[in-house]
Amino acid sequence: MIHEILPVGVLQCNCSIFGDETTKEAVVIDPGDDIDEIRKILDRHGLKVKAIVITHAHIDHIGGAAKMKALTGAPVYMNARDQALYDNLDWQASWLGMRRPERTAIDTLAREGDTLRLGGAEFHILETPGHTQGSISVWIPAESKLVAGDTLFLDSIGRTDLPGGDGRQILRSIRDKLLTLPEDTVVIPGHGENTTIGREKRDNFFLQGLS
Ligand SMILES: [Zn+2]
Repeated sequence: MIHEILPVGVLQCNCSIFGDETTKEAVVIDPGDDIDEIRKILDRHGLKVKAIVITHAHIDHIGGAAKMKALTGAPVYMNARDQALYDNLDWQASWLGMRRPERTAIDTLAREGDTLRLGGAEFHILETPGHTQGSISVWIPAESKLVAGDTLFLDSIGRTDLPGGDGRQILRSIRDKLLTLPEDTVVIPGHGENTTIGREKRDNFFLQGLS
């Protein structure tokens, strides 16, 4: 499986581009910005995007979704509980002093238990609310990878002081949905360096006494 991680935009959101070498299909997760750079990666591998997945509706993760969809025609997947946050995209932009991105319709609601198929691999949608009410993580067992959005980071967890955030809920999500995954699962957070489930279970200060 091809997997490239590209930090995009001023907040350097990790955009993941997964591609199947045989079918040449791709899944793009969190194309927050820099769609031209994402396109270069897709072109370099000869990939055609079949799905655009949004882990949550913060502007740095969803800001480029409309442009990505216009470019590829691929459907946009997001959890319904972040629709209100997405409807406030203009407010998010002004709060951060960013220009307002174009908006798109959400084509498919991503729910707990949904799976997307890319080549021989399944992408499982896990609902992990807390950073936002509609936050999801994407688990790819065949690759031993988890795209965690802004729920779990190397040595940290997602902030919960923004609208829709809930400090107890994010810990419950991490305990019940993420720390139960195999310890060698590589975690690709929404920002910064990769980690593993085992490492965060052991060393993440915020998770001590949780599991
Ligand atoms: Zn966020």
